[in-house]
This record gives sequence, C-alpha cells and structure tokens, in this order.
Amino acid sequence: MKPTEIAQMLTLAMDGQQEAELRRSSLDWHERNGANHVSGSTFATCLRQAYYRYMQNEVPTPDDGFVSSLDEQNKRYMYFGLLVEDLIIKAVEGLGIKNVTVHRDQTQLPVQQFFEYEENDRPIVISAANDMVLEITKGKRSQFIPVEIKTTDRIYSRKEGDGWVTPQKWWDNFTGRESNVKQVAQWMHLATLNGYDVPYGLLFYLRRATWDMKYVVVNDSSDPVLINPDDRICKVINFRDVWIESRNQDLLKAISTQTPPLYDKDEVPDYICKGCPFLQECKETR
Ligand code: SF4
Repeated sequence: MKPTEIAQMLTLAMDGQQEAELRRSSLDWHERNGANHVSGSTFATCLRQAYYRYMQNEVPTPDDGFVSSLDEQNKRYMYFGLLVEDLIIKAVEGLGIKNVTVHRDQTQLPVQQFFEYEENDRPIVISAANDMVLEITKGKRSQFIPVEIKTTDRIYSRKEGDGWVTPQKWWDNFTGRESNVKQVAQWMHLATLNGYDVPYGLLFYLRRATWDMKYVVVNDSSDPVLINPDDRICKVINFRDVWIESRNQDLLKAISTQTPPLYDKDEVPDYICKGCPFLQECKETR
C-alpha cells in the first residue's frame, strides 16, 4: 500500500469510529427520552427548545438535532468529551474503593432520574442524567453524588474590554458554565424529589490543551468551607440559586397555556440556535 492509502485508511478509521461513538451516545439519549419527556440537557440549554420538543409530541429520532447538526470541529470536541468521560469513569472504577459504587448506565436509576408532573392532559416527564453517579455507603445509608464531566478550551486570544485575553488567562478565570450548573442542579432537584440523599454534585472540567482540571461544587448551602485554595474547586454554588424549581414551573405554565417561554438572547449561544431543529418556529415568535 502507498503512504497515501495508509493515510486515507487511518482517516477513514478515525472518522468512522467518531461517527459510531456519537451515534451510540445519541441512541442512549433517545432511549431515555420519549414524546412526553423533557431532557435535562435541553431544559438546561434552552427552555424554549424544551417547550417546542414537548409540544411536537413525537418520539425524537435518534439523530434529531444532534450528530447531523454538528460541524466537523464540534464532532471532534464531542467525541473527545466521550473519550475523556470513559477514561475518568474507568479510572474511578479502577480505584476499587469499598464503600463507593460507580453508576454510569445512562438509561437506569440512579444516573437517570425522572419526575412526572400530572397537571396536564398529557404527563410532562422531566428527566435528567449525569455522566456518573457515585453512591457512597455508610452502614445502611447511601448518599448519591452526581458528577458531570466536561472538556473545554479556547484556542485563540480574544479582545475583551481594553485588552486581550489569552487562552491561559481565560482558563485561570474560568469558573464553569451556567448551563452545566443547571444540568447538575436539575438532576439534584429530581433526585431529591425522588427521595435520594444528595449532599452535593460536582462539575468536573478538563482543559483540552493542557489537561488542567477544575471543579464546581453544586450544593444546598453554598458552604464556604468547601473552598480550599490548594485543590481545584473554583466555585461553590447553591443549586437552589439556579432557579431550578421556578424554571420547571415556567415550563409547566408555558405548556399549559401553549405559549413558548420568553426568548432570552443572552441565555442561548448562537451556535446552539444554529443546530436547533425548532429555529424557524422560534424565530417567528420571538
Ligand atoms: S432556536 Fe435557539 S432560542 Fe429558539 S428554541 Fe432553539 S435553541 Fe432555543
């Protein structure tokens, strides 16, 4: 074989592997979400999208608004994210700590949480899942800690205000993304409604270029003693401060009055709207 043929073979193999993994992840999402479901990730990203998806009253197709809407760069980022998730979960499992059980099945309790609201003709099932849930047992008691793993980075310096922010400076100041906090908080909210003992949740960020790590703690008390300058915890946030229950109520009201929630241009980045299957109808009612 010529070098070009080998190179083509490697590229094809990588592309095929990437596509297959993204589709597998999409299938997991599909299995968790029926026509009456509002997924935690949609709920955290855009309340209007959650509304449109529910009102569509269809089981989403496995690829609906996911793999096919991503550009090549975002596919690579997402695939890299899946690899890192797998790596970290396996590493934690490999520690073999006696009283810690690692749950990672995205279609089962406790990783997948549901709560059904019945004040509608059709049930509204709010769901949420995290990458892994650690069950810590002490005697007969178990506590459950959701962990959401995110990879992130900036490639270029950006002009902000009077100066330039380099990728390193951006990372130094990085304290997590609000939509990610909402995703963890939604899981904590539903798990608490379902009777689980959830002392806090963790967001784990890995910077792609350097593999530096940071954590955001999502808890119920904004306990300042959790902040230790020697570790990588960059923020502690009370999950009730991210208005999860009022956001749930806004969605329930929108559905019962058949009126899309208000459009908030600051809430949803443009790249999310570009890949949104409801872009056209959303634009018509802004
Ligand atoms: S187009 Fe944007 S704002 Fe509208 S529903 Fe989709 S993600 Fe939300």
